[in-house]
Amino acid sequence: LEERIIKLEMNGPKTFPCVKLLGYEDKKRILVSGGAGFVGSHLVDKLMMDGHSVTVVDNFFTGRKINVEHWIGHQNFEMINHDIINPLFVEVDQIYHLASPASPQHYMLNPIKTIKTNTLGTMNMLGLAKRVIARLLVASTSEIYGDPEIHPQSEYYWGHVNPIGPRGCYDEGKRAAEALCYAYARKENVDIRVARIFNTYGPRMHINDGRVVSNFIIQALENVPITIYGSGKQTRAFQYVSDLVEGLVALMNGNYSQPINLGNPDEYTIEEFATLIKDFVGSSSPIVFKEGLEDDPQKRKPDITRANNYLNWSPKVTIQEGLRKTVDYFRKEVEMSKN
Ligand code: NAD
Ligand code: UDP
Ligand code: UDP
Repeated sequence: LEERIIKLEMNGPKTFPCVKLLGYEDKKRILVSGGAGFVGSHLVDKLMMDGHSVTVVDNFFTGRKINVEHWIGHQNFEMINHDIINPLFVEVDQIYHLASPASPQHYMLNPIKTIKTNTLGTMNMLGLAKRVIARLLVASTSEIYGDPEIHPQSEYYWGHVNPIGPRGCYDEGKRAAEALCYAYARKENVDIRVARIFNTYGPRMHINDGRVVSNFIIQALENVPITIYGSGKQTRAFQYVSDLVEGLVALMNGNYSQPINLGNPDEYTIEEFATLIKDFVGSSSPIVFKEGLEDDPQKRKPDITRANNYLNWSPKVTIQEGLRKTVDYFRKEVEMSKN
């Protein structure tokens, strides 16, 4: 896709990637809340390339117009600047509800707003889905498992979240979002899908995102200290964004309505991950240890048996391949931010 996107020339006509032509029966009107964000914009690319009509609704809190710039002006594409904590009236067939800050630094910035986005915002999306009889997929998270007592985490696990800690606004917001989905499914027959997304990385992550992948890569590129919070023995498992997008689309269009984990089970300690990034970039950065974060989950790795069985899905992109694309992206971003 990257090669096919021809950038808008200063004075020339705008050209677009070649999208599939769908018949009336197959072409869907799809709303993507949070579509200008990291994951949302990659999902928009896939849906547009597949020939659907896509409407993005975003308030640009953490998203950026540049992420979907290449579609602006296309007849199948529309963008609405709107905060989903307020009602939204559009006519669509499917809703991918992704609007919510995702990085701890972003969601802790205004915890009240994070709760509102995930509760009131989700309720508005469900009210919309109910009125227009659309299927709704909510982007939930592995954070609903909190600091897990079982490992790896399967969808049967109810979680171990501190409701009053600094991560509570996001974790409990997402748990409420899931509860709202099943309440609307039971009471109002809304057709729902719930994706529990595990740590995801790739191009278009925000340069100031503060998450481990972006921090470590930028630190390595700049040959400044790579900062590990806590002992570095805590683990995460990282999936590349294109794998997630494939999983989201499969979940939306499948028949399974219980929650499904989408993640890559390839698990690293944060210390191992720091060394991996340092070596990958060929950096001279020292690796330093800082104070640990409050309520930082100590282990995380998805059990993806359910996604395998019900969606025939598993991640395909290796960490080397994913990091190559991501490091290339951040190299350009760092260069641009200097200019
Ligand atoms: P992101 O911050 O890049 O994107 C979120 C988008 O939502 C942004 O464009 C932002 O402007 C928009 N938004 C936030 N609040 C809004 C509001 N009130 N009204 C309208 N738009 C609003 O984050 P992301 O990494 O792309 O995450 C997308 C979704 O996936 C989120 O719901 C997140 O919780 C979930 N998720 C992501 C990860 C991950 O590792 N990236 C992991 C688990 C879950
Ligand atoms: N809603 C929306 N768009 C719609 C339909 C509803 O944003 O097309 C909002 C509506 O304003 C309400 C929420 O979704 O705040 C929940 O809707 P529901 O119909 O469940 O609740 P009610 O309107 O009966 O309180
Ligand atoms: N982390 C770190 N250094 C950083 C950023 C994050 O050691 O510069 C750690 C963090 O403490 C956590 C893990 O990396 O244990 C993943 O953090 P991230 O914010 O990426 O996502 P989370 O999975 O915690 O939401």
